[in-house]
Amino acid sequence: MRTLGLLGGMSAESTTTYYQALNGGVRERLGGLHSAQLVLWSVDFAPIAAMQAEGDWDGAGAALAEAAARLEGAGAEAILLCTNTMHKVAPAIEARVGIPLIHIGDATALAVRARGCSRPLLLATRFTMEQDFYKDRLHGHGVGALVPDQADRDRLHTIIYDELCQGVVDPGSKREALAMIAKAQGADSVIFGCTEVGLLLSQADIALPVIDSTLVHVEAGVDFMLG
Ligand code: GLU
Repeated sequence: MRTLGLLGGMSAESTTTYYQALNGGVRERLGGLHSAQLVLWSVDFAPIAAMQAEGDWDGAGAALAEAAARLEGAGAEAILLCTNTMHKVAPAIEARVGIPLIHIGDATALAVRARGCSRPLLLATRFTMEQDFYKDRLHGHGVGALVPDQADRDRLHTIIYDELCQGVVDPGSKREALAMIAKAQGADSVIFGCTEVGLLLSQADIALPVIDSTLVHVEAGVDFMLG
């Protein structure tokens, strides 16, 4: 089995999902006592989130590139960066290490296409919904993402940072997020484009096909380990 490096802690709540799902995925494919061979570097998210809020993406990129180099030094043969938002600094990470970064946007777009869809509603942080780095990556695979309106983007961003990243799952916030989906015009699917959204919502809540970026990224990680 090849060794996977997880660059996590953004937030720790979703990194827990990654760890469980990677182990579950390997066990499902190999059976018995098999589990994922991986190295985890989990950052303190507070200083990273402060750099995001200040727009200091160079600083955040340098911090994550350093962590990625440590993963490589510890024996990782590929990296999963366990957040959509921080893929904004994927180029800084890729420039620093000699191992591949398995991009969450590629895994997500391929899963959208595999469901026969191309016009997903993207539920994510404001950075991911409003800036180009993620939507452009999807677009490269023929996926044109729609986003909620400004008020809903602001609210969703707050739910992610003030609740989900801090381990709070609120039924009222779930109703609000479902109302955002119900309002979406022209969407053929829904992307959980933040690794915490799957803590709040699931396919069972939503009529449109759901692509959970965390779970499809995990699948890509399992493919790498066993490929
Ligand atoms: N985990 C989230 C994401 O997938 C948000 C936290 C972060 O900014 O990294 O975008």
